[in-house]
Amino acid sequence: MEILNYTEAHNSFRERLQAFLAAEVTPFADQWEADKIVPKSVWQKMGRGGFLCTDIAPEYGGLGGDFLYSLIVAEEMTLTRQTGLATPLHSDIVVPYINSFGSEELKKKYLPGCVSGDIVTAVGMTEPGAGSDLASIATTAVEEGDEVVIDGSKTFISNGLNADLVVVAAKDPAIENPYEALSLYVVETQTPGFSTGRHLEKMGMWSQDTAELFFSKCRIPRKNRLGEKGMGFLMLMDKLQQERLMCAIMGVTGAERILHWITDYCKQTSTSGKSLSKSQAVQFALVEMATDVKLGRTFVEKLIADHMEKKEIIVETSMAKYWTTEMLNRVANRALDLCGQFGMSEKCPMVRAWRDAKIMTIFAGTNEVMKNIAAKFMGL
Ligand SMILES: Cc1cc2nc3c(=O)[nH]c(=O)nc-3n(C[C@H](O)[C@H](O)[C@H](O)COP(=O)(O)OP(=O)(O)OC[C@H]3O[C@@H](n4cnc5c(N)ncnc54)[C@H](O)[C@@H]3O)c2cc1C
Repeated sequence: MEILNYTEAHNSFRERLQAFLAAEVTPFADQWEADKIVPKSVWQKMGRGGFLCTDIAPEYGGLGGDFLYSLIVAEEMTLTRQTGLATPLHSDIVVPYINSFGSEELKKKYLPGCVSGDIVTAVGMTEPGAGSDLASIATTAVEEGDEVVIDGSKTFISNGLNADLVVVAAKDPAIENPYEALSLYVVETQTPGFSTGRHLEKMGMWSQDTAELFFSKCRIPRKNRLGEKGMGFLMLMDKLQQERLMCAIMGVTGAERILHWITDYCKQTSTSGKSLSKSQAVQFALVEMATDVKLGRTFVEKLIADHMEKKEIIVETSMAKYWTTEMLNRVANRALDLCGQFGMSEKCPMVRAWRDAKIMTIFAGTNEVMKNIAAKFMGL
């Protein structure tokens, strides 16, 4: 019995998305990799096609779909060989903060644009001096009457250059306890006092516009705060389960894509007069990789089903994020080895896959932090 219940509507959505990506995304993957960014117009095309923020209610322009639509988009995007069009980050990680914690006014103002692709979002938590330890962030938000003044900087922010709207974590400097000082604010990137810094050069995910953000006396309306003041940490905790699950989905799908490619390669490439796949050592490698991938898929699908039933699976999603992204790296590394000298050529698709895999163990909470969280919730 299948654990995930796809309907006809899900299946035809996937087919439409596949056709869209084959026409509008995959053929441009190499160009975007060279450009180190994706054009903003492709965000709008995704939105017009109905592929962004599929869970948003129809009254704000969305499909009102279940998590299987998010899963379908994350899987199909992972198969496009590009990482710049970070729609799972926008649709399933950033916009949910606005959808869950924004006032009705904020939702009416921003959600339709997020769905249509006219508004691209980013989330700004990390700072030069605060990564894993969010309690040490230095960016301040001082509420003055109807306004909030934000000062500070963020770094390594995905969609940093294309973003129109950033969900920013900032603290009230007057409150000593960092867990009570943190709030989340929605900042329009056209606001005076907001600026972007360097477009960061990375070892992988080249088409992703990762950037620094700066806030200098950046005044935003107080009503752009999400939820109650000082509830930032609780809101982050609430949404991190889905963020980790999305990473795990992309980890498993990425590993499946690599396995598929390397299996074909080993069947089609000959050495000493026989195809690579006839060598027992290669067969063992492919079988071990396939076992890893199947274990990952089974685990993640169970978690998707649990997440859809609104079960609390903090331990399991933390385990899945670290295990699937390490598994992806194992599979990518082994696939690269099997390519021999071709695996050192930029023409080999495994090179980009290997480069892009590394980042998955770091963002969305490093894998060490995932183990910390699991240990804590296991009562260790
Ligand atoms: C490509 C990319 C995109 C990103 N996108 C975003 C984004 O959109 N928004 C955003 O806010 N951030 C983003 N980040 C930042 C990312 O979330 C941080 O890199 C991550 O949280 C780790 O922080 P750090 O790099 O400062 O490492 P540190 O926290 O300094 O960690 C350094 C090392 O110490 C280990 N470590 C730290 N604390 C502990 C602990 N308590 N126990 C055990 N080990 C520990 C870590 O696992 C790591 O190995 C992105 C990063 C990358 C690389």
